[in-house]
Amino acid sequence: MLCMDRVLRWLFPPQCAACGAVGEGLCGRCAPAAGVISFATPTLRGTALARYEGAWRRAILALKGGRRDVAESLGLRLGRLATRDAVLVPVPTTTARRRSRGFDGATLLAEHASARSGARLLAALEQVAGDAQRGRDRRARLAATGRFRSRYAALGGQQVVLVDDVCTTGSTLEDCAAALRSAGAIVRAALVVARADRA
Ligand SMILES: [Zn+2]
Repeated sequence: MLCMDRVLRWLFPPQCAACGAVGEGLCGRCAPAAGVISFATPTLRGTALARYEGAWRRAILALKGGRRDVAESLGLRLGRLATRDAVLVPVPTTTARRRSRGFDGATLLAEHASARSGARLLAALEQVAGDAQRGRDRRARLAATGRFRSRYAALGGQQVVLVDDVCTTGSTLEDCAAALRSAGAIVRAALVVARADRA
């Protein structure tokens, strides 16, 4: 996957999703490295690189639209927040969206974060049903549970950090944490690119 990225990088040099400057998927001028944002969901400590607005929002929309260069730029930034001893587990997208996009956004973020930090990447989760989030109102999103399952029966004692692009209500992260905990993992933290205000 990362080898494929190098080929694509040569063919299509990275370009800032916000200003178009060539160099990286989100440039330091548009999104200077600033302090991180801490947040909490019922059972997790979350860390976000930024709020879901401005250049960060444009970068995430570009990632959702299939921009690998943006995934690299954001994933490397996330990697600065991960420790070597962490196990990074991406929040999976639906098969349909992955097919239309050509890749799974959070998985690619986690791959680059892993390469940057030395933390292990484990694609331990899969979605059970169809796309339960998009287009739903907040109450319906919160009601949707049991959407994820662990691909491994026994994750006994593994310290897991969830990785995703955006966190809004935290319900997706909580669903993922529950699925991993049912397989024995210890899930206490989440790393996301951006924290969105609740709708
Ligand atoms: Zn820029």
